[in-house]
Amino acid sequence: MTQQAIEITGLRKTYAGQKGAAPKDALKGVDLSIPAGSIFGLLGPNGAGKSTLINILAGLVTKTDGQVRIWGFDQDINPRQSRAAIGVMPQELNMDPFFTPRGALEVQAGLYGVPKSQRRTDQILEMIGLADKAEAYARTLSGGMRRRLLLGKALVHAPHVLVLDEPTAGVDIELRQMLWSNVRKLNEQGMTIILTTHYLEEAEQMCDEIAIINHGQVIVRDKTSALVGRLDAKTLLFRLEQPLQNLQLPPQVRQEQRESGLLALTYRRSMNTAGDILGAVSAAGGVILDVTSEDPDLEDVFLSLTSGTAG
Ligand code: ADP
Ligand code: MG
Repeated sequence: MTQQAIEITGLRKTYAGQKGAAPKDALKGVDLSIPAGSIFGLLGPNGAGKSTLINILAGLVTKTDGQVRIWGFDQDINPRQSRAAIGVMPQELNMDPFFTPRGALEVQAGLYGVPKSQRRTDQILEMIGLADKAEAYARTLSGGMRRRLLLGKALVHAPHVLVLDEPTAGVDIELRQMLWSNVRKLNEQGMTIILTTHYLEEAEQMCDEIAIINHGQVIVRDKTSALVGRLDAKTLLFRLEQPLQNLQLPPQVRQEQRESGLLALTYRRSMNTAGDILGAVSAAGGVILDVTSEDPDLEDVFLSLTSGTAG
């Protein structure tokens, strides 16, 4: 059996309503296990509860109910060990403007009780590309540099599990690539990675397994490849000599004219074959110049599971 890096059972969080607002059930009973050594993606629309879950793991938000074990340590029974096992790069940039990167890393290491002899401050500065800014005041750092510093801070105590909450939202391509190459390297060294991202393509490329969370509940959890393979939809793209006048399609086949001039016909593999679709186009007198197919991607999975239910 694989060791679980994270085991969450029956996790609930209700935020008290502020200024007369109704209380908010941000997590409604989440069960989730994340295997050690994986890169695990936590996806979901805005307001789904991703940050709440991550902040509970980080010890920044108190849960209302449920059990959280990090690296085998129950958060309530062994708070110190469970906290030591995890490092979190938060979504917001909240940073003391008077610290230098070196100072911020040293203070963070101190908070985690890392003895001076075991600190890896220079190594971390090197890794996040801030060695030459080690003594610069944080307020003089760009947004991208601050994000990298947040990653560095999450690593000072060499945690088993690294959690990144939307690390690439709104960052430029260069920084994104740097973050991902660091994440891959850390994972190869054995670190378990949990990340949330809005970029589904990125999740598809990076993550071994994915959980999709919506309205405070995990609605699906699977290997990334299985998740994409699970979708029944398939699209055929036709380049035709002329637009079709009288296309008779089997029920439930969706038709769409793409801007590229291609006719896209999407069908369910469980209901129709590609032959049915080709036959319908031919029967309408279509002269097919070219045909290609499109398999569903994570975005389709995501939309089919969460469509129209943001918040
Ligand atoms: P996500 O990270 O998936 O966008 P969040 O965990 O930030 O979602 O939020 C989940 C829900 O909880 C949202 O409806 C949000 O408005 C609400 N929420 C988050 N933080 C607080 C808070 N401190 N007080 C009250 N409600 C909150
Ligand atoms: Mg969030």
